[in-house]
Amino acid sequence: MPKVKRERFVCAPDDEVAQAMGFASHAKVPLHALWRPFGRTGAQANVSKTASNVTGNANCFPRLTDADLKPGFDLYEDPEHPPQTLKEFKTDSDRRDVGPKANTIYVVGVGEAESSVPVAAIAQYVEAFYHGIKVTVLPMLPLRSWNDVEDEPKRKATTKGKGKSGSLSPLGVEVSGSLVRVRARASPDGVGVRQVNLNDMIDGLLARMETLKNAYAILGVTSEDLFEGNDDLFTMGRSYGGSGVALISLARDNPALDDVAGDPAAREWSFAGPVSNTPSATSSPASNTNSIWLYRACCTAVHELGHCLGMDHCIYFHCFMQGSASLLEARSQPPYPCPLELVKMSAALKWAPEHLRQREEALRAVLASLSFSRAPGAISHLAWLTARRQEQEAKEKEVVELV
Ligand SMILES: [Zn+2]
Ligand SMILES: [Zn+2]
Repeated sequence: MPKVKRERFVCAPDDEVAQAMGFASHAKVPLHALWRPFGRTGAQANVSKTASNVTGNANCFPRLTDADLKPGFDLYEDPEHPPQTLKEFKTDSDRRDVGPKANTIYVVGVGEAESSVPVAAIAQYVEAFYHGIKVTVLPMLPLRSWNDVEDEPKRKATTKGKGKSGSLSPLGVEVSGSLVRVRARASPDGVGVRQVNLNDMIDGLLARMETLKNAYAILGVTSEDLFEGNDDLFTMGRSYGGSGVALISLARDNPALDDVAGDPAAREWSFAGPVSNTPSATSSPASNTNSIWLYRACCTAVHELGHCLGMDHCIYFHCFMQGSASLLEARSQPPYPCPLELVKMSAALKWAPEHLRQREEALRAVLASLSFSRAPGAISHLAWLTARRQEQEAKEKEVVELV
């Protein structure tokens, strides 16, 4: 059984709550040090003030605790996964900067029928979430039968995955008139008819990316069920951050499949903060399958794109960049960036303070739109944004009164 090392959780030395919960203080790396690389050397007071402004209270940003480490959860299964501080994020040689020549996230459906992939709504959410970066929807990349192409030279030669048990006839992603071969196999748990190989699909996306102007990243969205290795049951998504490519599958997020493919213990994240005058999941109108499905896909999309921006899994807070080793864990994670991720995003996207407010407003508008408004998770996300705003305004008022 894996041993969990408590001291890997970094707590501010003055965090009485964390200490009372049994966490060891990590005197060498106090929490506020994570915010240090704002470049204000010798301005410790400013750094601490910034940290406390961003951090807020535990209602909006609960930390991960030992109670969150359960069998089947990422940190329990992989307790040695290293943390990523802001300094490490900024100095990561694999991380690419957003700049004039790499300023666009392209979102593209990959599949047999355009109508099955709601790329426009996903792109809208991504654009609000990663405020400031350009997001462009591309025409669908067709997934075709490998045997459809008579002209042999047009197929990109490959020998991978031939003759494996359970394998089905291969498919091909059509990119610029060529087919990139995609292995397929029968669904091992019978949830779907077939699964397609994630890495082969990624090859297709990389080929498409080469043809694009100013691409920072490309996000593929497919309704196909995915697998990576022969031992996998399924994979919901993957990104190769250094290459700026990510792929997500909608297949397992379908709420209509929750009874057969889901975990009966899974509970969607819901904001339980002290909100008196905001809508909550319990007072929401009847939820809608498509709305829930779309919202789940959006949460997976921004997580995978977070890796493209250079963010590693979060081990500090409940956060959209937490790792996920099961559906149970994926469903329970919040949709928002924790303070550390917010600062990393600010650095990557070059946000000034006013951009944080603009991001919040853009996200509110998307979450309140018809496509999302019947997903309890989206309604809860809105409630969280409201609570966070109230908290920040109370803090600003406090500062004004002190002055
Ligand atoms: Zn991840
Ligand atoms: Zn985080």
